[in-house]
Amino acid sequence: MDAYKDDRDVYRELGLKPAITASGPMTHHGGSKLRPEIVDAMRAASQVMIDVHALNDRAGQIVAEYTGAPAGMVCSGASGGLTLQAAAVMTGTDRGLAERLPDTDGLRNEIIIQNTQRFPFEQGYRAAGAKLVGVGNFLHCHPWQIEAAITEHTAAVAFLVAPYLPHNAMTLPQVIKVAHAHNLPVIVDAAEVVPPRENFKKYIAWGADMVTYSGGKAIRGPQGTGILVGRSDLIAAARLNASPNLSIARGQKVAKEEIVGLLKALDIFIAQDEAEETAHYRRMAQHVIDTIGEMPGLDLTLRYDKRDWLLPMAVLHFTPQWRGPSRNTVLQRMQDGDPPIFMHTLSDPDNLAVHPLSVDDDELEIVAARLKQELNAKP
Ligand SMILES: *Cc1c(COP(=O)(O)O)cnc(C)c1O
Repeated sequence: MDAYKDDRDVYRELGLKPAITASGPMTHHGGSKLRPEIVDAMRAASQVMIDVHALNDRAGQIVAEYTGAPAGMVCSGASGGLTLQAAAVMTGTDRGLAERLPDTDGLRNEIIIQNTQRFPFEQGYRAAGAKLVGVGNFLHCHPWQIEAAITEHTAAVAFLVAPYLPHNAMTLPQVIKVAHAHNLPVIVDAAEVVPPRENFKKYIAWGADMVTYSGGKAIRGPQGTGILVGRSDLIAAARLNASPNLSIARGQKVAKEEIVGLLKALDIFIAQDEAEETAHYRRMAQHVIDTIGEMPGLDLTLRYDKRDWLLPMAVLHFTPQWRGPSRNTVLQRMQDGDPPIFMHTLSDPDNLAVHPLSVDDDELEIVAARLKQELNAKP
């Protein structure tokens, strides 16, 4: 039996306005929606006690199998995964060293990163006490630049796989080759790049030593979860540094019901037909485009760039010929209305997009109609 006639009431009771998130799985806007089967699994798991170490072992085996890695674990989002990667490469399985974090004086505590890949989440590495050493410039990075940065304090080389990155960094196989020649592990942030599902296995198969993925983005697991997979010794080191142990990442606890929820979400996600899923999101994006219709100065396109691992989106491009309300005005009015509607900004001042992941069919009608209304409103 549902406790709420309308699920939105749970936020209305708090005096808040329930929103619609067409910005993709943005943590600021609530992430993604849990499927009912996952809520059921989490409810059940929350009512029964379990040995958390045994649950972690089993969850680790399962995520390792999905990714073809020797070992794995559930972590607190990909951000938590970055902190555990850094901790693991600095301490190994030495309890004494783990206890010292984030004080890393005298440890191998430097993580090399290409400057073309500097990114907003990299603080996750520093949270464990690691120091980032940027190499190359905004245009390129060469193997000799990584080699020149290696010292006796180097702990690992980091690599980011993400949409929107300029494609001028060294590739992951190139980085792995250089790092492994110097016996250094390569730690990968692949938070956002599934689907496609093939990316679960790709980076480990190429030789990456640890890879982290978000559980709460397109996999639609609990928002606070992530996956960390890789070499057995490094995963053992990450487990040592993670909750329930009293270590650096104790504050990044993942509850038993969240772990179970993520496993259920993965189970469903892996079994899902990717072509069908893509077709579904394509239809949604096309519906938005068709509802808005032609408007002078506004280019509407369905964007699906498999190279950038994005779900299909409806993109609105505001050209210099556009005479309606500005892109920023539309963005603001959409989120100031009732319900507030969050749009994807594509980090681009001339574009807005509808990302369909967290939008259901009723909500899509509201989003499309409101967009049409705001685009036709006075500037
Ligand atoms: C979303 C994201 C993260 C953070 O993931 P969470 O699961 O939300 O912690 C880290 N890195 C990149 C590149 C991301 O896109």
